[in-house]
Amino acid sequence: MNVISVAIDGPSGAGKSSLARRAAKALGFVYVDTGAIYRTVALYCSENGISPEDHATVAAALPKMNVQLDYTEDGTQRMLLGGRDVSELIRTPEISMLTSAVAAVPEVRAYLLETQRKLAQVRSVIMDGRDIGTVVLPNATVKIYLTAAPEARAQRRCKELREKGMDVTFEEVLKDVQQRDYNDSHREISPLKRADDAHLVDTTCLDFEESLDVLVKVIRQYMGV
Ligand code: C5P
Repeated sequence: MNVISVAIDGPSGAGKSSLARRAAKALGFVYVDTGAIYRTVALYCSENGISPEDHATVAAALPKMNVQLDYTEDGTQRMLLGGRDVSELIRTPEISMLTSAVAAVPEVRAYLLETQRKLAQVRSVIMDGRDIGTVVLPNATVKIYLTAAPEARAQRRCKELREKGMDVTFEEVLKDVQQRDYNDSHREISPLKRADDAHLVDTTCLDFEESLDVLVKVIRQYMGV
């Protein structure tokens, strides 16, 4: 069987995860949310009092973490840490910010590189993250850079967090979005950037269904189906 890989990169809040999950369903591919893997590593560090600045301690902890991906029947990815489902715990604003720092640790990126590549070797995937098209899967069948204006992304994230019962202001969320954009695109290793051969999709003026439509069309176009 021909294994297809779709790499979707872009800044936080561009709708990558929800769009990639739905596109994967439409195309019959497995969806891999790599941000969730980094988030789970950050949660481990937070729970064990490990500072992301202490690279040696973070590196030594990596083989002990026991981070696993699991899929529910409808294809939703769940994250397990030491066998415990932490899929909700990794979504708080504190863990989001900590993840950005943990993801800049070179040892963490090197450790997770193989994990991510292996996931795409055996089956067709849509993988989303920051460096999938540039570093993890440089030979991906389709590369997409999905973005939107920071204000639009903050608005969406704000709504999402409020729906989960979190008490956040738009200004706070916008500041977080801008800070994470800065961290992710200025780090030394695997910074967030559009691959030269990535197709740009800007969802600022599109709603969810319109964005999904564009995304699936672009993927099909590259696959030649
Ligand atoms: O995609 P998500 O917002 O869940 O990612 C959380 C954080 O994980 C990002 O801000 C980024 O710092 C990091 N990340 C990364 N490389 C990836 C995926 C996520 O550095 N491939």
